[in-house]
Amino acid sequence: MQWETVIGLEVHVQLATQSKIFSGASTAFGADPNTQACAVDLGMPGVLPVLNEQAVAMAVQFGLAIHAEIPEVSVFDRKNYFYPDLPKGYQTSQMYHPIVGPGEVEIGLDDGTTKRIRVHHAHLEEDAGKSLHEDFHGMTGIDLNRAGTPLLEIVSEPDMRSAKEAAAYLKAIHSIVTYLGISDGNMAEGSMRCDVNVSVRPKGQAEFGTRAEIKNVNSFRFVERAIEFEVERQIELIEDGGEVVQETRLFDPERDETRSMRTKEEANDYRYFPCPDLLPVVLDAAYVDHLRESLPELPDEKRARFQGELGLSAYDAGVLAASREMAEYFEVVKDTCGDAKQAANWVQGELSGALNREGLSIHDSPVSAARLGGLISRVMDDTINGKAAKQVFQALWNGQGESADEVIEAKGLKQVTDSGAIEAMIDQVIGDSPAQVAQYRDAEPEKRGKMIGYFVGQVMKASRGTANPQQVNALLKEKLDALC
Ligand code: ADP
Ligand code: MG
Repeated sequence: MQWETVIGLEVHVQLATQSKIFSGASTAFGADPNTQACAVDLGMPGVLPVLNEQAVAMAVQFGLAIHAEIPEVSVFDRKNYFYPDLPKGYQTSQMYHPIVGPGEVEIGLDDGTTKRIRVHHAHLEEDAGKSLHEDFHGMTGIDLNRAGTPLLEIVSEPDMRSAKEAAAYLKAIHSIVTYLGISDGNMAEGSMRCDVNVSVRPKGQAEFGTRAEIKNVNSFRFVERAIEFEVERQIELIEDGGEVVQETRLFDPERDETRSMRTKEEANDYRYFPCPDLLPVVLDAAYVDHLRESLPELPDEKRARFQGELGLSAYDAGVLAASREMAEYFEVVKDTCGDAKQAANWVQGELSGALNREGLSIHDSPVSAARLGGLISRVMDDTINGKAAKQVFQALWNGQGESADEVIEAKGLKQVTDSGAIEAMIDQVIGDSPAQVAQYRDAEPEKRGKMIGYFVGQVMKASRGTANPQQVNALLKEKLDALC
């Protein structure tokens, strides 16, 4: 039996506002427990929430970025449940009239094609507090700093068909929210987490299978692993004659498995109703238009421009446009050296390699974009050859110079293009290598091309890597062939 996987994601994005969604308390990460929760966040009797306009603007920007409908009216509802980290007894959310209507996100697939994933809607809500189970000797501590932090929950249609597609979708969302600057996207700190809905069905069947929902997955890799495990579990279960039950499961990254948390029978009835303390949000067209005009260039547009205007490959354009910081760095390199392809090669090659090796983000690169651009310019105007360029890069990386020019000067890496000087080195090498010259002479003419490598290496060595390799090659060939 051939099985097909069906996946829908509910992504929670923490919005980068200074203060909470309904109060003036700070949202800064890492403060001492319970120092940033005010009476409103706790839902004390008699307090009234005031909606943070910035959270609204950010949600609308997201909606516009995914080409969604922005309804004129949205409404906050109370989602009622009891939990120690929710002293109010309800979470303020949006159930029936979300702020962002249907939209779509484009994802890139491995085979170079793209696919559209529909977004059902996105709604605003507040985060709950946090239960701390360690350090309290069998008791639980409650930290309410996070209570009231604004979240945008983005609910996809069940349009994804593999773990890879789900990860690509999550990356696309990450890239959009960080481009917009509406979230720091820091998954390790919980700024972005998602619930993964997974089901399987026999290939060709029209109806969906019963789904399980895996809660709170907080990394791209975990999303893939949780789905892979869950798909296998469901297929085995069905093939053994069992049935998938609709339930909430938890992913355990240490054991690489999902475990049941609660089944549908135990599921809550949240008794949603419109929050009487908050007015409906009414957005006029001028407000939405103003936000539309202030949108930055988005990842898809940037990718298209890198490909169309700059002539980069689809792959290069995709990689460079995926992160705003990477794209901005690349554009400075490109503008400094004047060549998009060279800039792309260096950013994705030498620079990304070095960053990966040291676990640094591009933001922390010891080599600035302007310096890298300066270095590439010196390769392009033949001041240095490719080999020397790598040395210059290393030196800049290690802080041994303020610019490529300074390093080239200090280390004497300027390329030798004076043909007289190169000829002299070649004559020396030919004179010192009678055995290799004899071999060359005796070889079939079509084999000689390969044999020339030895001589090139010797001349480059004699020049300490500074001779122009093309010139060395051409002159050597001339001189050796004259001996044959
Ligand atoms: P609920 O309101 O119970 O959470 P929704 O219909 O809102 O359910 O769906 C929640 C998420 O589950 C959505 O992202 C949706 O795409 C996804 N989903 C719904 N049905 C399935 C299914 N059969 N298989 C996989 N994902 C599904
Ligand atoms: Mg749900």
